[in-house]
Amino acid sequence: MRIIADTGRCVGAGQCVLTEPALFDQSENDGTIIVLNEKPEGELVEKAREAARVCPSQALSLEA
Ligand code: SF4
Repeated sequence: MRIIADTGRCVGAGQCVLTEPALFDQSENDGTIIVLNEKPEGELVEKAREAARVCPSQALSLEA
């Protein structure tokens, strides 16, 4: 699985970072998403799914 982040859609709400700080960070400039680990494994896979669900701007998509 691979995480794809659309920084153009990201509104910097930070829900993804709150969900899993091991996978996501935010830019210090504008708060947009930085994916720290694009290919999560193990329990981080479910965390990535949860982050995509809670993102208010649907900026995260998951590729099988
Ligand atoms: S939850 Fe969505 S909008 Fe908020 S920082 Fe993460 S990707 Fe951006």
